[in-house]
Amino acid sequence: RQSSEYRGRFAPTPSGPLHFGSLVAALGSYLDAKAHQGKWLVRIEDVDKPRAVAQADSVILQQLEQHGLCWDESVIYQSQRDQRYRLVLQQLGTELYHCDCSRQQIRARGDCYDGYCRDRQPRSTPYAVRFKNDDPVTRLDDRWHGHVEANSDCVREDFIVRRRDELFAYQLAVVVDDIDQGITDIVRGSDLLQPSFWQLTLWQRLSGRQPRLMHLPLVTDAEGRKLSKQNHAAPIDSANALENLKKAATVLGLGEIAADNIDDFIKKAIIAWSKQWRIGAN
Ligand code: GLU
Repeated sequence: RQSSEYRGRFAPTPSGPLHFGSLVAALGSYLDAKAHQGKWLVRIEDVDKPRAVAQADSVILQQLEQHGLCWDESVIYQSQRDQRYRLVLQQLGTELYHCDCSRQQIRARGDCYDGYCRDRQPRSTPYAVRFKNDDPVTRLDDRWHGHVEANSDCVREDFIVRRRDELFAYQLAVVVDDIDQGITDIVRGSDLLQPSFWQLTLWQRLSGRQPRLMHLPLVTDAEGRKLSKQNHAAPIDSANALENLKKAATVLGLGEIAADNIDDFIKKAIIAWSKQWRIGAN
């Protein structure tokens, strides 16, 4: 791949300020884009409107800037793209169907959705919209993890693209946005490794191509739980930006980066990342 074509992104959900785990994902995706002399975009993933916290988007953008992570092009918001998602669902047409099964009904029939409503149209409202997953992706290559096989048969299920509350499903939004933004490389936390199978299935269907993937190590707390907003992980404090960045670099396997200011850190970290992943080397 020509490095000048590289387009990466960081796609935070604005449910609160960035915590250390999200800084690691931001830094990893930034370094990979810059090591490839590519573009690094930021997208606010507020497709789940009730989950978005007021002002969290601007706090996140400010935190990124304060950590020297400046994005290319303009920031897009999923909450403003309903029309686009609607159009994609229209295009999928008969590859979609309505499903009014409750979670309980699905569970009673098995671990994954069994396609019950496929041949039982129409269904009553409220219903979710499912994608006929006839050609599921079940294996992938990841730059961090190598060859990965799906760990559950649910990768084969007819997954939801619009929820019964009429919100577009995250799986749909993330893929449509990545395709529309011309993303070539997805670098994000390993919590999103398994959802990648459904996403690659949609990528393949909607664009005929798949992005390169790299799923970064997750940061865990003292009890071994993933840092997340649900676990009330502390927001990163921009007053300690340089220290936060240095700590994030060690999680990414870059070791100690000796730098006394953010610009210097960013330059050195790009070089260290390029060496670690042999980017630009012949
Ligand atoms: N919005 C997702 C999150 O904050 C990230 C999605 C992605 O990088 O694909 O966990």
